[in-house]
Amino acid sequence: MAATRHFALARPPMRAIETADIPEASIGAMTMTEWKKADWRAKPRVQMPDYTDAERLSAVEARLASYPPLVFAGEARRLRAKLAAAGRGEAFLLQGGDCAESFAAFNADHIRDTFKVMLQMAVVLTFGAKVPVVKVGRMAGQFAKPRSAPTETANGVELPSYRGDIINGFDFTPEARIPDPERMLQAYTQAAGTLNLLRAFSTGGYADVHKVHAWTLGFIGAPEAEKYRDMANRITDALDFMEAAGIRDEAAHALQTVEFFTSHEALLLEYEEALTRVDSTSGKWLAGSGHMIWIGDRTRQPDGAHVEFASGVQNPIGLKCGPSMTTGHLKALMAKLNPLNEEGRLTLIARFGAGSVGEHLPRLIKAVQEEGAKVTWSCDPMHGNTIKSSSGYKTRPFESVLREVREFFGVHNAEGTIPGGVHFEMTGADVTECTGGVRAVTDEDLSDRYHTACDPRLNASQSLELAFLVAEELSS
Ligand code: PEP
Ligand code: MN
Repeated sequence: MAATRHFALARPPMRAIETADIPEASIGAMTMTEWKKADWRAKPRVQMPDYTDAERLSAVEARLASYPPLVFAGEARRLRAKLAAAGRGEAFLLQGGDCAESFAAFNADHIRDTFKVMLQMAVVLTFGAKVPVVKVGRMAGQFAKPRSAPTETANGVELPSYRGDIINGFDFTPEARIPDPERMLQAYTQAAGTLNLLRAFSTGGYADVHKVHAWTLGFIGAPEAEKYRDMANRITDALDFMEAAGIRDEAAHALQTVEFFTSHEALLLEYEEALTRVDSTSGKWLAGSGHMIWIGDRTRQPDGAHVEFASGVQNPIGLKCGPSMTTGHLKALMAKLNPLNEEGRLTLIARFGAGSVGEHLPRLIKAVQEEGAKVTWSCDPMHGNTIKSSSGYKTRPFESVLREVREFFGVHNAEGTIPGGVHFEMTGADVTECTGGVRAVTDEDLSDRYHTACDPRLNASQSLELAFLVAEELSS
């Protein structure tokens, strides 16, 4: 008996061993300590609010941490496989939605209209690219905004900048601009409601390809859209052929439903951390706030908080690459964010501005090749093309957006690499925020329906037109 007791006492306590408990010498190659979802807190952070009421903040974090995640790991893994295919040229990524989702514009029509135009674009792009289109909304979580300046001035009054509805209010008053942690709860509720409707639309009959194409024929019916009629008619023929051949019956499910994923910039790390959970299947961490998260061009410091957070979750990660991205930083970021070099894990989202792609993209492609890194390349032709219009509004000319996409394709063709997708700020509503397009929006029109809470978006007609033009590039 005594011997048994002695043996029992000598055994180490039964608890999970944390690598931090083990002396470094005894773990040999395993020198990395286990990632924890709060590790970002020890790193330098930028673009995040300073909440003044720590108690209120922790109460909100505790509540969010007790809520269900919005997405589950199997979905994120599926998206990763699809993004891997896009990186190989076997699929094409369409990522789009509001610059900033807002509490005021939260309604079913807004969600439906953006979803609808993305599906229309996807049909056109599928026809052009001849590969499946991976549909990812900037939706159900795209609430937090990095800003170029910490304050804004109007009529001689200076106030803290608006940072997105999840952080503070858009109204130009000192009260509205105070960061309020409770806004995270409203953002969560809105994200859950948005995702619920998107899931219903995706499988409930709304996304039938024939119906989606019929909407596009409505756009093509307008005299100014004449030049896209030929491609639209060819899509009609292809669908008619499939129907006649009976493919509709056999592949009914594939043609009547879509898979739609969500994404947002993982900027507000308190929100992200609270929704981060362990996936019971793989034992890995998952950011439960959306399928894909991305790191913005202003928060991609290799040793910063945002990169630290993204490095530990298994979701597909987007990384915005603007003109200031050095090849050294890109190499460090790829090593940190995708140490196992997994396909589909990392999407590099190039956003240099029309006229600058030739200067920056080739050097970054070379850095990727030198590392033998597997990445998916996407093009965000919005953020490098923002200008102030003569009427004083922040806008983006349709021509510059299109030109950047063409330059992106041109460089990839020249380098023999794969242009895997596009990333747009767009809405299904008939806003007047970007200039140009066949239903031309002029500088003077901007004031008519300028509704964005942040950057200017392509409207429904401009988005669809762009899809036709990108499809032409893809099929040429
Ligand atoms: C955005 O996508 O809204 C954004 C702020 O982009 P970037 O980080 O590339 O400027
Ligand atoms: Mn934006």
